[in-house]
Amino acid sequence: MLITRRMKNPKPDHRPEIMAIYAELERRPLPRQCEMRTGCCHFRLAGHTPLLTKGEALYAAQSVRASGRKALKPHPDGACPLLGRDGRCTIYAHRPFGCRTHFCAEAGGMYPRKHVADLIQRLEALDERLGGDGSRPLEGAISAVLAEK
Ligand code: SF4
Repeated sequence: MLITRRMKNPKPDHRPEIMAIYAELERRPLPRQCEMRTGCCHFRLAGHTPLLTKGEALYAAQSVRASGRKALKPHPDGACPLLGRDGRCTIYAHRPFGCRTHFCAEAGGMYPRKHVADLIQRLEALDERLGGDGSRPLEGAISAVLAEK
């Protein structure tokens, strides 16, 4: 007798919705100058750490794994562990939403919430569907996903 096993309530694929949210953000840019500034990647200096929902963390972790890394190594300067030695983001195409909204003052400051409120709501709704527990600081959020089997 053929027995097929079905997972109960399988988690949805995060990728289509995350990619759609990031693509929508690209379609509504505000004037900002952040190229190679990396101010927001230096958490201690910026005084901020990006907060990630589960879908963002899963998407970022996918890029970390694709580069052969299994865990994040702390940056010696207390900067983002994903900041490369050349001063570039090592997961640029998969960088989280906060990194796309230029929260460092040097680059022009964070996007006004009303400009992206609907996209934040979509990220939060996806987080719920994925069984997340809300936004978490970048390093912990991505490390937790990398530790998952
Ligand atoms: S994920 Fe990339 S863009 Fe975001 S803080 Fe880290 S190095 Fe900077």
